[in-house]
Amino acid sequence: MPTTPPSPTHATGWRRPLQALALWFDTGAAPVEDGRDPDRIDWLRVLPFVGLHLACLGVVWVGFSWFALGTAVALYAARMFAITGFYHRYFSHKAFRTSRPVQFVFALVGAASVQRGPLWWAAHHRHHHRHADTEHDVHSPRHGFLHSHMGWFLTRRSFRTDLDSVRDLARFPELRLLDRYDILVPVLLATGLFGLGAWLETAFPGLGTNGPQLLVWGFFVSTVVLFHVTVTINSLAHRWGSRRFATRDDSRNNALLALLTFGEGWHNNHHHFPGSARQGFAWWELDLTYLGLRALAALGLVSDLRPVPAALRNVRREPA
Ligand SMILES: [Zn+2]
Ligand SMILES: [Zn+2]
Repeated sequence: MPTTPPSPTHATGWRRPLQALALWFDTGAAPVEDGRDPDRIDWLRVLPFVGLHLACLGVVWVGFSWFALGTAVALYAARMFAITGFYHRYFSHKAFRTSRPVQFVFALVGAASVQRGPLWWAAHHRHHHRHADTEHDVHSPRHGFLHSHMGWFLTRRSFRTDLDSVRDLARFPELRLLDRYDILVPVLLATGLFGLGAWLETAFPGLGTNGPQLLVWGFFVSTVVLFHVTVTINSLAHRWGSRRFATRDDSRNNALLALLTFGEGWHNNHHHFPGSARQGFAWWELDLTYLGLRALAALGLVSDLRPVPAALRNVRREPA
């Protein structure tokens, strides 16, 4: 069952950087309490996030190969599906059912996206739906566009996982473990890509790849693009697009974002009925995640995909 978070310890002098460092590896470590504003960006803690972006500059040195680009695209697609299908539609909204092993496998793939653990992600997302675009919504663009895109989770206030919001998920120790040590899976992926590239360099030199190249394209570039596309749903999808339903928030439907995020861009539909496994309500609203979930259902890996109730599809239209 959920445990109470450790009490903050008062940090002075050299203890503060050491505690920030501890949080890189163990998100359950005692938080730093130095009286600073919890809504300010916590630069020490987010240095790895900054480093992730800087490492993309490595493309200048490692060069290009079609194999490395293909790996980046494949890892974008697999992880985007895990984020949209599982972190979002399953863990956050329970829009379908699955077994504990399948739940864990997709939690692992989602964790490889470097978007924190499944409990943290779901807890913040449930909070967003409860308070969308009100003063309590931590990532509403009403509080600043850049803040809604990425500023919000760089602050100390958003660092903790609110276990009370995700008690249904917190009863699985394997999910709590992934959530607490959220750096583990990304480091394993990065190391694996470097090793694979080094092996391919000697085993299949015709591919033109190597360890550093596969690391930069497959991990850093793919992860940074995946991250920024994912969070457009918090920022752009509450600003840019059309509104089919008169929801109480600013959510929009946007075909381009839906394409890039495998269906999440039908965000006004989603805020209208968040419990559905499907976010493209009309036949022409392409929702690749839903198609993927249908495929998993055909294989017997997931079940009970929740549909959109017919009565909800055509109500509360936004006045023209
Ligand atoms: Zn939203
Ligand atoms: Zn949602």
